[in-house]
Amino acid sequence: QHLLGRIDRLDGELNSFITVTFDQALAAADAADAIRAKGNAGPLTGLPLALKDIFCTRGVKTSCGSKMLDSFVSPYDATVVEKLRAAGTVSLGKTNMDEFAMGSSNENSHYGPVHNPWDLTAVPGGSSGGSAAAVAAGLVPAAMGTDTGGSIRQPAAFCGITGLKPTYGRVSRYGMIAYASSLDQAGPMARTAEDCALLLSAIAGHDLRDSTFVARGVPDYSGELTAPLSGLKIGLPREYFGDGLDPAVEKATREAIAVFESLGASVREVSLPHTHYAIPAYYVIAPAEASSNLSRFDGVRFGHRCDNPADLIDLYKRSRAEGFGDEVKRRILIGTHTLSEGFFDAYYKKAQQVRRLIRQDFLDAFEEVDVLMGPASPTPAFDLGANKDPVSMYLQDIYTIAVNLAGIPGISVPAGFVGDRPVGLQILGSHFTEARLLNVAHQFQ
Ligand code: GLN
Repeated sequence: QHLLGRIDRLDGELNSFITVTFDQALAAADAADAIRAKGNAGPLTGLPLALKDIFCTRGVKTSCGSKMLDSFVSPYDATVVEKLRAAGTVSLGKTNMDEFAMGSSNENSHYGPVHNPWDLTAVPGGSSGGSAAAVAAGLVPAAMGTDTGGSIRQPAAFCGITGLKPTYGRVSRYGMIAYASSLDQAGPMARTAEDCALLLSAIAGHDLRDSTFVARGVPDYSGELTAPLSGLKIGLPREYFGDGLDPAVEKATREAIAVFESLGASVREVSLPHTHYAIPAYYVIAPAEASSNLSRFDGVRFGHRCDNPADLIDLYKRSRAEGFGDEVKRRILIGTHTLSEGFFDAYYKKAQQVRRLIRQDFLDAFEEVDVLMGPASPTPAFDLGANKDPVSMYLQDIYTIAVNLAGIPGISVPAGFVGDRPVGLQILGSHFTEARLLNVAHQFQ
């Protein structure tokens, strides 16, 4: 009730929620109380949280930030939602996001932009901007996000919270509306790494309904938080400290890294030589997969349908023209082009080959060091409305995108401020090293 009251008072200005599920939340809280009264409470019993509106929730509107799904009520729960409910958490609602998770500022939402709680004139980052802002403003202690090219880590950095993108295949994608299926991954956003560890333990785990899920035991993510960092080998990718990095962000990042040295870690420079290909490769692969995934929104089976179609083609055309926003249309066009006969080899296939090289860069670096550190974003949160050119928006993703192409895990932790705007330190590890990343982040916090 306390948090629902805060949402009521503060979210008019922030716009971090698309749907607040007052009644269901109070009923779930009562159920959690009953479990606690019986002495059966687990670590997350009764914990209020919020879900990015990309997760299907049975009986609750699931819009994915799009007019296309404005009237869509999911008939089933995503695996992540099912698991969080089974752990006893209480969802307060669905958070705002860039339409179909395409964006870096939350300005592509059909429901309007989210405001950064630290400075209402700044963006919260995207695409999980609603989740990040809701946690930063103390509307919920935790929220779920998804990360296809940085959408957990970058908004976490812009809003001064902690956000973890797990290894691809660690968390089931079942019931998470697909953007780019080979890159999408769900993860927790919360104040601290300790909180993220509890949440990851709840959402990771076997699910036969996602064929890319990796069947692998779930370690006790909370158990290793306090392990000492002496002997930890940290690599600083040279390419993450070059041109385009805001000097004030660099200063905050280097100061954070010095703290790890004082905790007994050693630091050396490494190279990820194909970094400059990451954005072009991603912005071929992600739109290609999106154009295929979004073909299901045809005005027949899901969501928006135009009035009085003349025939089937007219129904498709107008339903899609009316239901999708500009950025989504731009990506469908790019993706359809790069997948078309005659262009596939030159674009999609080539991008997949480049992706392999980017992955190899990381594997080579992790032969030398345990973790990589650098900024999560080249700048702090920018002003709402300041970045109108799509390509300059894509360039914002320079430090986060290669991680998804490689499938490795990454976490962003708060590392100070530039003026009144937070800066995030990004920590990367090789596949399935989430426990190590959480441990390293926890020691810093
Ligand atoms: N900014 C990137 C994009 O627009 C990443 C988004 C994401 O991770 N969902 O595609």
